[in-house]
Amino acid sequence: MKRIGFIGLGLMGSGMSLNLVKAGFSVTVWNRTSSKTKPLVEAGANAATSPKAVAENSDVIITIVTDGKDVEMVLLGPNGVHEGVKPGAVIIDMSTISPIKTREIARKLREKGAIMLDAPVSGGDVGARNGTLSIMVGGPKETFQEVLPIFEAMGKTITHIGDVGSGQATKAVNQILVGINMLAVAEALMFAKKAGIDLQKCYNAISGGAAGSWQLTNNGMKLLKNDLEPGFKVKDYIKDLRIIMETAQETKTPLLGTSLVQQLFRNLDAEKMNNKGTQALITVIENLAGEKFTN
Ligand code: NAP
Repeated sequence: MKRIGFIGLGLMGSGMSLNLVKAGFSVTVWNRTSSKTKPLVEAGANAATSPKAVAENSDVIITIVTDGKDVEMVLLGPNGVHEGVKPGAVIIDMSTISPIKTREIARKLREKGAIMLDAPVSGGDVGARNGTLSIMVGGPKETFQEVLPIFEAMGKTITHIGDVGSGQATKAVNQILVGINMLAVAEALMFAKKAGIDLQKCYNAISGGAAGSWQLTNNGMKLLKNDLEPGFKVKDYIKDLRIIMETAQETKTPLLGTSLVQQLFRNLDAEKMNNKGTQALITVIENLAGEKFTN
């Protein structure tokens, strides 16, 4: 069985790595803030002292950190994976970063004899914990087939899209839908509040119908409970909007709804809501509507 290295134990990585341990894989973890390795070690993982040490002990190395520069740091920086990686090792980046940066990193890793897959995910911290993530993969098909059992321990819908970078391009598509959906949920729930109807009954009536969505089921429910905690952080979605807009610029694609969503998230940034969940978009709608939704 392949030995797995896992780098990045944030909201997503902690649940994903735990599912790998539960599936019986030998897992070596590293996190910048080392205290976050504790629950993993208690569950049976080994803790390494650096990304380099992770690479020395692994056949497959998974990263899920924040942005492109962070992926570069753990893979190609001092004491990074590139210093310990063995020829033929597979490196899977599951963070959401730009397709352009992904191809650049893959090229540098190829010089070390390593093969890179980009495999960003969708499904939130809930999907990470439950092992139900959607995983969209770019890179050589034969490498994808080789590591499929690893993906199967973390996700439910696992799709090989095409060449390296195509997973990230697909994730950008996903994030366009996520943002516009979140705006729809916030706007619709404020409309319901102002119409004076029972919010829970309204939610129950519509979530299973044609207007139902992951955003309504999960983030809509959080709003009903006045819960603005992440989930998925505002600052990470602002990063994703940047990636989407850079790609749209390159491909000359008009993005009307996403542009509006980006302006609204700029307000959340100005209001220092960066570490809240994306459902905090309701606070911008509250300001526009002149009425509080959450307490
Ligand atoms: P998070 O909770 O903020 O965790 C970020 C992780 O990255 C932490 O382990 C952090 O280490 C590490 N990190 C960041 N910069 C680093 C650096 N320069 N060097 C080393 N480690 C670094 O974020 P998350 O929600 O798990 O998200 C991780 C990735 O998954 C992001 O790309 C995000 O866009 C994507 N994603 C998130 C969701 C979601 O719903 N949360 C869904 C799909 C995809 P520390 O613990 O030391 O800070």
